[in-house]
Amino acid sequence: MNNKYFPLDKIKLEELIQKYPTPFYIYDEGAIIDNVRRIKAAFSVFPSYKNHFAVKALPNPYILKILAAQGFGADCASFPELLLADAAGMQGEDVMLTSNETPANEYNAAMKNGAVINLDDFSHIEFLEKNCGLPQLISMRYNPGPIKEGNVIIGKPEEAKYGLTHEQIIRGYSLLKEKGVKRFALHTMVASNELSVPYHIETARMLFELAVEVLNKTGIRLEFINLGGGVGIPYHPDQEAVDYNVLVDGIQKAYNEILIPAGLVPMGIRTEWGRVVTGPYGWLVTRAVHKKEIYRNYIALDASMADLMRPALYGAYHHITIPGKENAPLTETYDVVGSLCENNDKFAIQRQLPKILTTAEITSTDVEGAGDFVVIHDAGAHGRAMGFNYNGKLRCGELLLRTDGSVVQIRRPETAEDYFATLDIGGVEEFLGGTK
Ligand SMILES: *Cc1c(COP(=O)(O)O)cnc(C)c1O
Repeated sequence: MNNKYFPLDKIKLEELIQKYPTPFYIYDEGAIIDNVRRIKAAFSVFPSYKNHFAVKALPNPYILKILAAQGFGADCASFPELLLADAAGMQGEDVMLTSNETPANEYNAAMKNGAVINLDDFSHIEFLEKNCGLPQLISMRYNPGPIKEGNVIIGKPEEAKYGLTHEQIIRGYSLLKEKGVKRFALHTMVASNELSVPYHIETARMLFELAVEVLNKTGIRLEFINLGGGVGIPYHPDQEAVDYNVLVDGIQKAYNEILIPAGLVPMGIRTEWGRVVTGPYGWLVTRAVHKKEIYRNYIALDASMADLMRPALYGAYHHITIPGKENAPLTETYDVVGSLCENNDKFAIQRQLPKILTTAEITSTDVEGAGDFVVIHDAGAHGRAMGFNYNGKLRCGELLLRTDGSVVQIRRPETAEDYFATLDIGGVEEFLGGTK
């Protein structure tokens, strides 16, 4: 069991929407900082540890700044993500470029910032050398292939497009050494949203063993090992969060058993956690606008899968609560949907919920004038970031609940002007005038 909390009550929300109408994302700064401190405390058993927050999970520079202040770096996969990390004050080797099928300009940007380049393919050794020259420090991403069991989201490693094979990675280190590279690191990322602690410990063990093999076969002493991201969060209230201390105990045991006897210490430990850092501390706050009763009962929100696509993309469960009705009996069965012309635009399917009042049902004499708030939990990672503009839907904004209880907007909602911004037609008004 894990408790699904939401930091604002209904009265506070009513106040907030005077300034920031729904839908919006809101993140809890205090809870994120607490969580970061727990992660750092658990990993403090290692001589050197850093998490490179996966920027794609929550690409907002305000959030990145909070994480940077706690000593986290960034894991980037594109030029704009490198810019975001830079804007948040993350510099040099605090930034890793863990990209794939990388274009030369992105390698160049990473080199210019002194970021750690993490190669995704053997052929990129030559590609990087030709286009940018080789840096002093290089990491490579390992794809263990059939020796490592698969995971629901990423799939089986041998079917995943990422990384170098076992044979290639050994050959890669030798080649890089020949070419004058001085410092080396190793990375893998074989799972996504994985709650199994043994799975992550096994991954660390596999990398530690590979580090010893690299030493034996190439004479190279790796400087750090990046265990990647992919630690899951308990989206469903029946699931348990990963216990950082249990996880780190297991990793430390493997470190002691494998790296210490090989003399490969001190070895830096890195992670690229995204989801587990911010996921549980962000919510999509929406309002119920319509009710529809056909073969099933539907509640339609003022948000759609354009704001949060995980349920549509992965069939993912996101917990839903109704502020003010937290303890109300779950008497109804609803499909909770958005307004997109796609039948998978559903936040929840056949979900037991309290009776929800929609805006359309409210008569003008009602005091509040609008339907129930519908809060979608665990949206603080891979939420707003995965949004899109299909059907001309405009993505919602983002708010931050500060540690002092105040709320600031950290990204405004999109407008129709934004939607037209990439079209070379002059202003919307001008264009419409021109077609008459
Ligand atoms: C997505 C990704 C991460 C972060 O994954 P989480 O599940 O958010 O922890 C880290 N590293 C790489 C290379 C990724 O692609």
